[in-house]
Amino acid sequence: MKAKPLSGLPLAEKLRREIKLRAQALAEKRGVPPMLAIVAVGGDAGAQVFLRKKLEACREAGFETTVESLPAGTSEAKVARLIAALGQNADVDGIVLDLPVPEPLDAGRIVEHIPAEKDVEGVTPQNAGRFYAQKSWDEIKKAAVLAPCTAYAIAHLVRETKIDPAGRRAVVLGRSSIVGRPTAHLLSCLDATVTLCHSRSQDLKDLVSSADILVCAMGRPGLVKGSWVKAGAVVVDAGVNAIDGRIVGDIDAEGAAKRAAWLTPVVGGVGPLTVTFLLYNTVLAAERRTKKTLG
Ligand code: NAP
Repeated sequence: MKAKPLSGLPLAEKLRREIKLRAQALAEKRGVPPMLAIVAVGGDAGAQVFLRKKLEACREAGFETTVESLPAGTSEAKVARLIAALGQNADVDGIVLDLPVPEPLDAGRIVEHIPAEKDVEGVTPQNAGRFYAQKSWDEIKKAAVLAPCTAYAIAHLVRETKIDPAGRRAVVLGRSSIVGRPTAHLLSCLDATVTLCHSRSQDLKDLVSSADILVCAMGRPGLVKGSWVKAGAVVVDAGVNAIDGRIVGDIDAEGAAKRAAWLTPVVGGVGPLTVTFLLYNTVLAAERRTKKTLG
């Protein structure tokens, strides 16, 4: 078997065209396009690359952006004050805290200062609460929750295969609050039977081999061997690891391609859709705020 490439690009392009039209309509209605504020602390190299992608995507969609760059060593209170001020700023529709933040900053505490209606990465306790309260894909869509962008991207990629996850076994490697855990929730909303794995999980090989749907989100280059993959599986590798100037995923892509039915490319897989769902959440947040003020 040779896996079909599960590219995020076609869906990303389609969604971005729709988002651009919504941004234009909003700009006509209220005089200004959606505005995304990004707070970056410490200049992590990986985050900088991703930041450039976000800014470029915003520009192409006709959004305005502002980037608040703070040096490593900035106190948590100062970052929190800046975020609270952006929350009060009527021009700002969405706020993102770029991750990772340098130690000893606590990203979980800082994001609590983002007002829920501007939390376009779905990281505040209010939005997480709303997200995990939904029990099905229909409920998720109906509630139009501001959901974590990468998890949304992964679930949409799985749906793109047209293989119904209902009743199938899904294994998610990684349990972070922005990727693994919300992905497990979305797959469970799609009626898959989900196993959520982490660094203390035992018998990873057996768990991987049992997966009809496998999601890798660990940041561990090549940890999953291609031979572990179940024949015919849908494999989404969200891992982004820089090795000798090359980007590799968490799975041995060459080996996995021989066994999986669908496999995401490391570049052009999850990444473009993650950025797209950031735009999607931002235009949604902007529309909601505008409706509140202008009706
Ligand atoms: P993270 O917060 O560091 O979480 C990594 C997770 O992997 C943790 O739950 C950890 O377990 C688990 N893990 C680590 N080693 C493991 C092992 N040997 N076996 C099983 N589980 C293991 O990372 P993240 O923010 O979720 O990101 C994960 C990866 O996705 C990274 O490569 C990141 O660059 C990438 N990413 C990609 C996109 C995209 O758009 N493509 C977006 C975001 C992130 P513990 O909980 O036990 O520590």
